[in-house]
Amino acid sequence: MPQATLAPLTTLRLGGPAGAVLDLSDPADWLDAARTISAREQNGPLVLGHGSNVIAADAGHPGTVVVMNTRGITAQRLTGTTVAVTVHAGHPLTDLVHWAAAERLAGIECLAGIPGTVGAAPVQNAGAYGQQIADTLHSVTVWDWDMGCLRTFPTRACRLRYRDSRFKQTPGRWTILTATLHLTRTPAAPITYHPLADELGVPVGERPPVPEVTAAVLANRRRRGLLLDPNGPDARQVGSVFLNPHITTTQAAHWSDRGCPVHRHSDGNLRTSAGWLLELVGCRPGQAVTDGVRCSERRTLTVTAHGNATAAAFDQALDDLAARVATTTGIVLQPEPTRVGQWATSP
Ligand SMILES: Cc1cc2nc3c(=O)[nH]c(=O)nc-3n(C[C@H](O)[C@H](O)[C@H](O)COP(=O)(O)OP(=O)(O)OC[C@H]3O[C@@H](n4cnc5c(N)ncnc54)[C@H](O)[C@@H]3O)c2cc1C
Repeated sequence: MPQATLAPLTTLRLGGPAGAVLDLSDPADWLDAARTISAREQNGPLVLGHGSNVIAADAGHPGTVVVMNTRGITAQRLTGTTVAVTVHAGHPLTDLVHWAAAERLAGIECLAGIPGTVGAAPVQNAGAYGQQIADTLHSVTVWDWDMGCLRTFPTRACRLRYRDSRFKQTPGRWTILTATLHLTRTPAAPITYHPLADELGVPVGERPPVPEVTAAVLANRRRRGLLLDPNGPDARQVGSVFLNPHITTTQAAHWSDRGCPVHRHSDGNLRTSAGWLLELVGCRPGQAVTDGVRCSERRTLTVTAHGNATAAAFDQALDDLAARVATTTGIVLQPEPTRVGQWATSP
């Protein structure tokens, strides 16, 4: 039997051999799967959704890789306009957003078009267009690999921050099995993001119907090259490769005078645009960074893999780009995707 590899499980299509791959589609199989893995391996498995936010090592992962494919949505009306929506971890996030739009449930309309699964969304507090999963997440059920049991974490225990959480900080400790969101049968949340307001032709603060916002987000993402097209020239990507960096007020004053966009994130921190910084140091859409690795045809902040690219080359390309920005500006860029599998150096 041919050995399983990580590459086809990731959108970058990079990554070496996997010890074993378990495709979990029936939630009822979880307890047996967890017991089998615990009996065989010291650590928890590597869990993947759609692999759209990982750089998988060329050396692969010697243990079990669980591909989370469990699907299903259960809705329960609470008081007033609130509906509790519990979703299995493998459910595609964008399918959930379309379901919510059809049900006219507000709270996740701006997350349309983000690739990946519902279970991975809390890992980096997935967000876009001024909305993040933290806004509506009520709780998650997880498998705790240290304790060997199911646990429920309310949102505050997930420590969700800008593209971060306790799950991202402690990889492998917990596997998210379901997520419960509290959505509301109301118009969409107030629009806070100017380009989205422009797309909708409404002022910031307006609350259009949910389906209109979802459609506008998809149209805007399509125009900006933010949708994953598996057959397009930028098919092998993980979206933005760097977080928008947190900067000091002095850096903000210095760089905004030079045209750099600066905004105050909902976490209170001043952040600037990682894409603008890459352009400042000479990167351009379509430009090669190293062999088999280049900026996407549509935007500099998306870096794509081609031909025989390796995970090591991709990772090195991100280091090189970050070093160019640090040398010119003193601003340190942090990669957004997570390195998974066996790397020679720690992240
Ligand atoms: C074109 C494109 C656009 C994107 N746009 C955005 C965007 O606008 N906003 C944004 O936030 N992100 C964006 N992303 C990044 C990515 O889609 C999200 O981070 C998404 O939530 C990842 O989901 P996934 O299922 O692919 O996770 P994976 O890549 O499979 O996994 C990501 C991490 O989560 C862990 N993980 C996955 N599932 C579980 C689970 N059930 N339990 C515990 N840990 C788990 C993995 O081990 C890994 O560390 C984009 C990516 C692409 C390719």
